[in-house]
Amino acid sequence: MKRLLIILAVLALGSFSLSGGEYVPNRAPLSESRFMELPLGAIKPEGWLKLQLQAQVTGLTGHLDEVYPNVVGKRNAWLGGDGDAWERGPYWIDGLLPLAYILDDQGLKDKAQVWVEAILGSQKEDGYFGPDIDRDPEPGLQRNNSHDWWPKMVALKIIKQYYMATRDERVIPFLDKYFRYQLKMLPKYPLGNWTFWGAQRGGDNLEVVLWLYNLTGEKYLLELGELIHEQSNPWSAIFAEGTMLRTPNTIHCVNLGQGFKEPVVYYQLKKDPALLDAMRSGEKTIHDYLGLPTGLWAGDELINYGDPVRGSELCTAVEMMFSLEEILRITGDTHWADYLERVAYNALPAQIKDDFTARQYFQQTNQIECTRNTTRVFSTPHGDTDQVFGVLNGYPCCTTNMHQGWPKFTQNLWYATDDGGLAALVFAPSSVEAIVVDGVKVNVKEDTFYPFDETVRLTVNFPDKKVKGAWFPIKFRIPSWCDDPVVKVNGQTLEETLVSGGLVSLRRNWAKGDVVTIQLPMKITSGEWFDRAAVIERGPLVYALKLREEWVRKDFKPEERVRYGDWYYELTTPDKWNYCFSRSDLSPAALQEKFTLVRTGADRNLYPWSVENSPLVIKCPARELLDWKAYRGSAGQIPFFTQLGGGTGDEERIELIPYGCTTLRITEFPVR
Ligand SMILES: [Zn+2]
Repeated sequence: MKRLLIILAVLALGSFSLSGGEYVPNRAPLSESRFMELPLGAIKPEGWLKLQLQAQVTGLTGHLDEVYPNVVGKRNAWLGGDGDAWERGPYWIDGLLPLAYILDDQGLKDKAQVWVEAILGSQKEDGYFGPDIDRDPEPGLQRNNSHDWWPKMVALKIIKQYYMATRDERVIPFLDKYFRYQLKMLPKYPLGNWTFWGAQRGGDNLEVVLWLYNLTGEKYLLELGELIHEQSNPWSAIFAEGTMLRTPNTIHCVNLGQGFKEPVVYYQLKKDPALLDAMRSGEKTIHDYLGLPTGLWAGDELINYGDPVRGSELCTAVEMMFSLEEILRITGDTHWADYLERVAYNALPAQIKDDFTARQYFQQTNQIECTRNTTRVFSTPHGDTDQVFGVLNGYPCCTTNMHQGWPKFTQNLWYATDDGGLAALVFAPSSVEAIVVDGVKVNVKEDTFYPFDETVRLTVNFPDKKVKGAWFPIKFRIPSWCDDPVVKVNGQTLEETLVSGGLVSLRRNWAKGDVVTIQLPMKITSGEWFDRAAVIERGPLVYALKLREEWVRKDFKPEERVRYGDWYYELTTPDKWNYCFSRSDLSPAALQEKFTLVRTGADRNLYPWSVENSPLVIKCPARELLDWKAYRGSAGQIPFFTQLGGGTGDEERIELIPYGCTTLRITEFPVR
């Protein structure tokens, strides 16, 4: 009988030191690293996640230079042309480059390399890089503010990832020279000198500075880090204090997503626990005042109270995901993994067309049509184009920025651990190849249909045929929503207590073919959101009313095309949407009894995030709320008196599907 040597530990810290420096931990005096990023390409998507990334290859990520040539084509100033000189070119590559290396796609690598060479090649003697000529305005292009620190931060993220994929030896001297330049210039030209975006997004700059410090140990980088923090928007104070988060129109929606990481990134340098406390309190205020069930917030440009008909920008989703990925790796706190899955598995797939050829600028959690309606209430509307699906409608930032979402999520499925093992803090079908204790190369395959299924199977293998086994830790999270997890190693159930929200650490001699089975039972719950509306969840997925979608492709008028692109889709539904729940149906006991989960049997080889292919349906009782009507192109406000006393139809069985499978939906239901 095989004897299991398993030590179960929550937040276990090992004494393993990394021989050969495979993966780079924080260097003193920075906070200690428990989790380290693996080289780009070490983690491969499988199953539905692979379909998702492949859709990016055939969709806009792989072809943006053909679809949007005026901005990210040869004329782009980052490539030496006289065109766009700001964020959009780098945004695209920040998603294209990791996609290329994760999928090992030579064609895409070649496309990304053109930009990498242009960035590296543009560096001047003093360390400056990037466009440096401001030009007159031209419709559809951003040709000024070429010296702005902000778009250079996106380029820094690209170059870091490029190094994580290639170890190109030109990268370190390039960054070193630029950061010395920044240290010299920032006192005179602070982060917010050219545009306010630079100061708002300083956390992105800081993260790459500290990353380089870990590689080189150059002390001036710590000084630069302090300077960047000082010149950045004071996010930790904003989160700790809370007034701005309670006040509409104070913060740009995307900046909140990007700024969210700054206190934690800076924590590495300052090591002040108050910074981490500020994050938790900021998160709570966002949830209570601005929050949406997707983990994002009402922010149709500027933040607003979390009304389900306010918009949420696509850039907010991908930037918040990236922030959460950084926060998760730095803190190792599994709370942020729960949060990351909430955004990735709900907001993200809902806002991009399944074939990755169109996207929406503002998404509503209660979204009954995506049409051109001039009266829809957003704090900063862009004509009436914010909600339709197209390429440039709304504002074109998301067209270029959305590409980073899934590739970076994939890159954060697995980390190296400080005790020479591997950790899966968020779950998705994937495989990882990495070096563990004693330099042994390991492959772990993660077989799962998560987040639709409750079981994750990890199979250990050793690529080197001579290696039969090795000792190393495998760690994974127990989501906080899971009350009764079961973990088995080769079919044998772990006896130890597993804690919701905890980290399981399996330390043992792994043999080829060993299997860890993680069962995470999901139960249906109901939460209270805006105006006491009810939101149904199960595990990591939020559920929304299933509505049939009628997509109609239309052309923009010739005079609109420079700004909004050539065409767009409008979506409507023939279905009723004005349902409410009865309060008596929402008790934990009633939810278990009256809400029924049905597995649709949809083909698992098909892309699952669609109405047709949704793997799961919840059937439940609801009634039409007769006075709840459409208003200005959205689901109308739900007056309190309607909840209390308005007329209803007879009880019906309605169908809810995962939010990420919907495009039209009701997510927040009135209760009476
Ligand atoms: Zn955007």
